[in-house]
Amino acid sequence: MRIELDIVPMGNIDEDTIEVLKQRLKERNFLVRVYAKIELPKTSLNVYRKQYNADVITDTLRNLKGTIIAITDADLYTDKLSYTFSTVEYDGPALISTYRLNPEYYQEKPNFNLLIERLVKEVIYSTGRIKGLDDCQHPRCLMHKITCAKDIDFKEMDFCKECKINNTLKGVDL
Ligand SMILES: [Zn+2]
Repeated sequence: MRIELDIVPMGNIDEDTIEVLKQRLKERNFLVRVYAKIELPKTSLNVYRKQYNADVITDTLRNLKGTIIAITDADLYTDKLSYTFSTVEYDGPALISTYRLNPEYYQEKPNFNLLIERLVKEVIYSTGRIKGLDDCQHPRCLMHKITCAKDIDFKEMDFCKECKINNTLKGVDL
C-alpha cells in the first residue's frame, strides 16, 4: 500500500526544493500532496537566538489533516535542544529544517542534490517515526537518528536487515 504524505512548506523554503523533494518521494512510491505555503508563527521566533522554537511551530500543525511533514528553511531549536534537524511525534506532525542540511551552512560549495538527498532521508525517517517505527542503532540505516550532517551522509538510502523485517511485521511499507 502506498504511503500518503502531506508536505507543508513553511517560512521561506523555496519552491524548487519542495518540487524536487516531491518528485523524489514519488519515485519511491509515496503519494505526495503539498499544502499551500504557510507562515512560521511569529511567537516561534527567538530574536536573541535567531532561531525558531520547533515545539511552538509543531503546536500550530496539529489541526492539519493527513500525515503532516512540514519543511522549513528556518533554524530550529526545542525546549531541550540548542538546535535540531527535525522533530517528530508518533502519528505526526513532523517538522524538518533544511537550514543545517544545506552544505553551505558548513561553508561548503552549494550542492542542491546533496541537500535533496539529505532531505529525502529525513522525510523517510520522520515518516517511519510517524508510522510507529523505532530509532535504529545501526548507523547505516535510514531509521538511525542523526545528530550531525556527517551522520546523515553516512546513512544509506535504505533500511538495515532488522528494520526491514520489523517494518514488514508492522505493515509499514516504506
Ligand atoms: Zn535499522
